[in-house]
Amino acid sequence: MLEEQLREVEKKIQSACDRAGRNRSEVTLIAVSKTKPIPVLQEAYDLGVRVFGENKVQELTEKYEALPDDIQWHMIGHLQTNKVKYIIDKADLIHSVDSLKLAETIEKEAAKKGLTVRILVEVNVAEEESKFGLKIAEVIPFIEKIAAFPHIRVCGLMTIAPFVENPEENRPIFANLHKLSVDIEKKNIDNVNVSILSMGMTNDYEVAIEEGATMVRVGTGIFGARNYVV
Ligand SMILES: *Cc1c(COP(=O)(O)O)cnc(C)c1O
Repeated sequence: MLEEQLREVEKKIQSACDRAGRNRSEVTLIAVSKTKPIPVLQEAYDLGVRVFGENKVQELTEKYEALPDDIQWHMIGHLQTNKVKYIIDKADLIHSVDSLKLAETIEKEAAKKGLTVRILVEVNVAEEESKFGLKIAEVIPFIEKIAAFPHIRVCGLMTIAPFVENPEENRPIFANLHKLSVDIEKKNIDNVNVSILSMGMTNDYEVAIEEGATMVRVGTGIFGARNYVV
């Protein structure tokens, strides 16, 4: 089951790369394992998955402790400043930096541990009320501020596109994030490189790849529907 779904996702990533004239190696698949139990992650690991995405600090740290060391853990969910210290040395990449206060906290905690933390800036391209992230117009001034933080490295941009029936509707969202990254690169800001574009989920990752995604975050497409316990 898991094996077939992984194979299916892999096939679709390859096809999207082919359509866009891109090399498969340009796109990292992040297996979004939130709410899934450790044995399921172990099964994915045994099938070769090494990059997992989680959206809750406690869940990420528990899974980090329980699973092999050569896994890369990506923090993809909204991050509260008071929880930064628990994941600062565990997350390979934080996708969800969306405020100066959060960036300052990451800087402070990273400095304490002598780390340089890789981050993405979360952008609310569609300006949805319900979502976190900076507006497009806020991103360059924000990056100019945090570029000087010695323990943070800005590596790219992330967006969560709206939920839509037809993934084609999100194409302009992905194209806009890509365009923003090109505009930022042109500014040649010291210490800033926005080569990572984290965009595309189960519903729309193929379109995202066609528009330049370098990381796609796929949960349901790999692991099946999530059962939320309330
Ligand atoms: C849950 C989640 C995903 C994966 O969603 P699916 O639709 O299951 O692929 C991707 N990105 C973020 C930020 C998420 O919270």
